Amino acid sequence: MSGIYLHIPFCRHKCTYCDFTSFPDKLGLAEAYMACLCKELELRGRELERETFDTVYFGGGTPSVIDPDYIYAAMKQIVKHFHLTKNPEVTIEMNPGTVSEKKIATYKRAGINRFSVGLQTAIDSQLEELGRIHNVRDYLYCTSLLKGENFSADVMLGLKGQTKEDVRKTVEVAAWSGARHISMYALTPEDGTPIYTDYLNGELPDADEVRALYDYGYALLREKGYSRYEVSNFCKKGYESRHNLNYWRRGEYIGVGVSASSFFYGRRFTNTFDLDEYMKCILSGFLPVVENERVEEKDAKFEFVMLALRTAEGISAERYHAAFGSDWREDFAAARKKNAAYLTENGDRTCIKDEYLYVQNHILMDFMEN
Ligand code: SF4
Repeated sequence: MSGIYLHIPFCRHKCTYCDFTSFPDKLGLAEAYMACLCKELELRGRELERETFDTVYFGGGTPSVIDPDYIYAAMKQIVKHFHLTKNPEVTIEMNPGTVSEKKIATYKRAGINRFSVGLQTAIDSQLEELGRIHNVRDYLYCTSLLKGENFSADVMLGLKGQTKEDVRKTVEVAAWSGARHISMYALTPEDGTPIYTDYLNGELPDADEVRALYDYGYALLREKGYSRYEVSNFCKKGYESRHNLNYWRRGEYIGVGVSASSFFYGRRFTNTFDLDEYMKCILSGFLPVVENERVEEKDAKFEFVMLALRTAEGISAERYHAAFGSDWREDFAAARKKNAAYLTENGDRTCIKDEYLYVQNHILMDFMEN
C-alpha cells in the first residue's frame, strides 16, 4: 500500500526550533498555492493511475492555518485523480491556535478521519519560549472539539529547563484529552534556528538528561495504556499511524507541494524548496522536481533494516526476502553478530530489545558499515 503526502507550507509565526519549509509571511499566497497543489495532484495522478493508495496526510507548515475549503478541494482532487482503498486513513496536522468548530466540520466532510495536534508541552512558559502561537487552554479547546475522534498529540522533550514534572504534566494532559496516539520526540536543535544559540550556550538539556526524560515519559505512557510501536510513537491498541508505518516499512509514497519528497518505483525524488519556483513550474505544466535518483540496492537494503529496527515489529525476514530476494541475516551477518546482545528474535521477526530501542542509532551504525 502507498501513501500521499501534501505539504502546506504556511504558518502564522516561525517557531524558534523550526527548520521545516514554512513561510509565516506568505499566508496571502495560500489560495494560489493550493490551486497549484491541486494541479500537481492531477499531474501525479495521471502518472500513478495504476496504483492504489491507503493513506493521505496533510502536513506542514500548519495545514489548519489556511481556509478549510482549500483542504476540502484538495481531497476532492485526490478522490478524482487517485485510486484510494475502501477505508483510507486521512490525517491532518493541526496547530491548536488555529482551529474552530467550522474547520473541523469541513475536514470531516472532506473525509479526514485522523487529526494530529501539536501540543508539544503543557507548560505555557515553554510554549512561549518555543514561539508557539498556542497555549494549553487552546489545546484543551481544540481537543474538546475532537471528542470521540481519532487524534494524536505531539510532545517534545529536551526543552530549556524541562523537568520530569513538566513531562508528567504534559503526558497527563495529552492522555486526559483523549489522544489515542502520542508522538514523543526529542528536540533536535538545527543550525540556523534561534534555538541553536541556546544549544551552543549549553542551555538545553544534554543527551543523558533527555534520555532520562524519555524513560520517564515512556514509563508514564505505558502506565496509561499506550504501547510503543516505534521509538518515538505510542498508541492505544489499534491506533498506529498507518501513514507512518508505511514509511517505516519502506513503502512507496508520493509527496506533493513545495519541498515534498516521494519514493516510487525505486526512485526518490524531491520538489523544489522555493515557493515561487514551485508555483511557476506547476503553472507552466511541469513537475517541480529538483532531485531524482534511483536508490542503489545496497542503500535500499540498509534503509529497509534501519527503518524496521526503529519499530517494535522489527525486521520481517519474509518481507525482506520478497523485496530483495536474499536473506537479511546473511546480508548483514557481521553487524547482526556484533549486536546479538541487543537484538531479540521471534520466528520471522528480529527487533531491538525494548531497553535498547532509544539508543538504536548506535546499533544502526554497525549495520551501515556492514
Ligand atoms: S508550527 Fe510547525 S512548521 Fe510552523 S513554524 Fe512552528 S514548528 Fe515550524
